[in-house]
Amino acid sequence: MGSSGALDKPVSSVAPRMGKAFEALGMRTAGDVLRYYPRRYADPSNLTDISGLVVGETVSIVAEVRSAVIKHARKDGAPRVEAEITDGTRTLRATFFTKRQGMAQHMVQSMHRGRRGLFTGKVSVFMDQAQLTNPKHDWFDGDDDVEQRAREEAGWPTPLYPASAQLDSTKIRAVARLVVEPLREDELSDPVPASVREARRLGPLRQALYDIHVPRTDDDWRRARHRLRYEEAFVLQAELARRRARAAAEPATARPRVVGGLLDAFDARLPFTLTAGQREVGDELARELALPVPMQRLLQGEVGSGKTVVALRAMLQVVDAGGQAALLAPTEVLASQHARSLRALLGDLAEGGMLGGAEAGTRVALLTGSLSTTARRDALLDAASGAAGIVVGTHALLSKNVQFAELGLVVVDEQHKFGVEQRDTLRAKAAASPHLLVMTATPIPRTVAMTVFGDLETSVLTEVPAGRSGVSTHVVPADNRPWVARTWKRVREEVDKGGRAYVVCARIEGDDDDGADLVATEPVTLGDSGAAPRRPLRAVVEVADELRGLPDLDGVAVGILHGRMSPEDKERALADFASGAVPVLVSTTVVEVGVDVPEATVMVVLDADRFGVSQLHQLRGRIGRGAAPGVCLLVSSAPPGTPAADRVSTVAGTSDGFELASFDLEQRGEGDVLGASQWGAATSLRLLRVARDGDLIDDARADARALVEQDPELAAWPALQAAIDARLTDSRDEFLDRT
Ligand code: ADP
Ligand code: MG
Repeated sequence: MGSSGALDKPVSSVAPRMGKAFEALGMRTAGDVLRYYPRRYADPSNLTDISGLVVGETVSIVAEVRSAVIKHARKDGAPRVEAEITDGTRTLRATFFTKRQGMAQHMVQSMHRGRRGLFTGKVSVFMDQAQLTNPKHDWFDGDDDVEQRAREEAGWPTPLYPASAQLDSTKIRAVARLVVEPLREDELSDPVPASVREARRLGPLRQALYDIHVPRTDDDWRRARHRLRYEEAFVLQAELARRRARAAAEPATARPRVVGGLLDAFDARLPFTLTAGQREVGDELARELALPVPMQRLLQGEVGSGKTVVALRAMLQVVDAGGQAALLAPTEVLASQHARSLRALLGDLAEGGMLGGAEAGTRVALLTGSLSTTARRDALLDAASGAAGIVVGTHALLSKNVQFAELGLVVVDEQHKFGVEQRDTLRAKAAASPHLLVMTATPIPRTVAMTVFGDLETSVLTEVPAGRSGVSTHVVPADNRPWVARTWKRVREEVDKGGRAYVVCARIEGDDDDGADLVATEPVTLGDSGAAPRRPLRAVVEVADELRGLPDLDGVAVGILHGRMSPEDKERALADFASGAVPVLVSTTVVEVGVDVPEATVMVVLDADRFGVSQLHQLRGRIGRGAAPGVCLLVSSAPPGTPAADRVSTVAGTSDGFELASFDLEQRGEGDVLGASQWGAATSLRLLRVARDGDLIDDARADARALVEQDPELAAWPALQAAIDARLTDSRDEFLDRT
């Protein structure tokens, strides 16, 4: 924040000998203390007299010392000071626990008879007598002004800070006050321009910082908090707006639609009609690709809404116009799945240059980390020569030796696993800035989209193609044996009808501790509150063995799929499953994203209480993709009423991805939701709550965009620039901490 010298001074300059304790809470400078906000405010203590004490209430009492003596605990001899204080009519005991005899002596000396002050603390009862334990005390020492002020302040709300064992809230409060009181407005640089402040009726920064730390009334801190919250939203949105403006300022190659090209050929042979949404979004993309400005679009869609086809049509438009498209996927399984389904969708259009291929055809190259040397060389060559119009890959695509002849469009699938920097690396592989399409795996709440993907325009696919029968979801209590047995019978029935069954487990092998990280994509899934007492999670290998021995599944082939298998084994497992040769597939969440087997009709998720909401929703999206209805059975051992049980039953209760996303955001808080994102937005958001502050984020975004429109580099707003830079540094540090 700002360049003011006073605020750059180390905390220890205001709080001698406490530097370490402050640093442990993330405060290095005086400025950091200013931005360390109270978590909440206690009601003002009642200025009362001793006759009016109520046990449990926090009170402030003006009183004088009558006596003070040292006593020792019988057990460990620890010294404490017992003082009698009086307001003239009644007396009250105040007990101060100390660690050392010296401290106790010092205290007793300071509490000489007749000394007046304000004592603030909670009323408790000890040995049938009301007392104050370790009350805060401020001496008046005969100064009427001091007494007057103390009496006044007793009626102020008390800020409560996130504290530590070394540093309690009272100390933080005192130091914050020391920092904020002498501060002048001109020592601060306010990132929010005055014009914006006026329009939004926000006060100046100094006032807000003062009121958040030293409020006189509840209104004071509420107003201050609103203004600081707005500031957080505004700085973040300004950063996103600047990012968006910078990207938009780069020239891109226009890729207008070519009549009679691959896209037309593809549309002509599409085995289904596009949904209205697919058509609309498709037109939107087509328009933007035709401009010499890089498209920057986020495509959100309900699970199964057909994002892939939309993306493919955009890719074909680019290929028709002489460019190449790169499709970036988060896992090898998904990358090869994408390559396979794109080839299948394209048919002979994907056999460009091959015997029997369509004349105007192109090629789909696959680039992952585990290709054989020859396959890799071929793919690299196809990408570099331009023979492959579409190059699909994992982050292997990002490596230096991958070159494109004419990269025109980057599609990032399931963005939540990719960082902004990776996006940029890929973009840098093109001479002109390529167009960008980002796709999320599941819908995300609008506020999250604005916060995390605020530099992108958003398109949404809400409907799923007609003719899908949907998925019904049920919770199966893990300890209900008949229900669990019924689950496997159900699997059998589906297989007999020609369906396929996924059985999803939270880990790979019974004895692996690290299996979890291969599996859980959301940090919340493991070690989360609300799950039953630690009990081993069901594992792929063990469950597969068990199912093979189950009479109900007699004669049914059971396969496995997990991240530790070789790419060939994975491919084979998926192919056998797709063909029906092995109709039951026990797997980890590798099937979570994008795996597309239309015959899959049933999914059993074991330890469902260990998975996150959007993860379950995404998993469930793997079934019911064909004409036959899907059934999803969530086996859970979470006790009713726990957050984990709530998660599972919420997923069972609705198939609306947006509703689930909002629930998720509310239940987990944005720390987790945004923390998993590439912006590291979580660290810089201290007061802003994405789930709650949607309107405020809207306002801030409108203001930030207007500002950036006039001044794309924010040259006239150094304070705002500085705040953005500070935020970026914070989130980069956080990113480095995490890796
Ligand atoms: P998601 O949006 O979850 O990524 P996909 O793109 O994987 O969904 O599409 C799911 C399935 O629906 C695929 O098999 C795809 O071919 C099919 N599909 C896409 N669009 C339509 C449509 N308009 N009508 C029928 N099926 C469609
Ligand atoms: Mg998909």
